[in-house]
Amino acid sequence: MITPFKFKDIHACEAVVLTCIDFRFWKETVEFVELELGIENFDFPSLPGAAKAINESSGEDLAMSCISVPVDLHHAQKIVIINHQDCGAYGGSEKFNGSDEAEQKFHEEELKKAKEKILAKYPDKEVILAYAKLVDHKDNIDFVIVK
Ligand SMILES: [Zn+2]
Repeated sequence: MITPFKFKDIHACEAVVLTCIDFRFWKETVEFVELELGIENFDFPSLPGAAKAINESSGEDLAMSCISVPVDLHHAQKIVIINHQDCGAYGGSEKFNGSDEAEQKFHEEELKKAKEKILAKYPDKEVILAYAKLVDHKDNIDFVIVK
């Protein structure tokens, strides 16, 4: 298969988007980033649990290089981290005894912790956090921006 290479001679991108590996969410995550956040070009690493990988990072490992390579090499100015509901890396929804609210709050705290850690290393970057929440009896995904 041959397809056009849109980024000939371009070595910088707007953002890095770190998301979970989960097959159920990544396509919609790309749509969210493009349509809702308006970011057109971004590095797109995925690691189980997204924020979890950053929070457990030693600072010099694969997880942190998912952020540092895009930032240092591709000059990404924005760092987006997206966690999602029913994430297996965290033990899934069942860990929260059916409370969607408790689950969301937990993920928001995880995301904020990851943001702190990234800002400690890259204080001049914009960090955007989002939580992919299942709504309408799990028929839809609602991407909630976490402030
Ligand atoms: Zn996950």
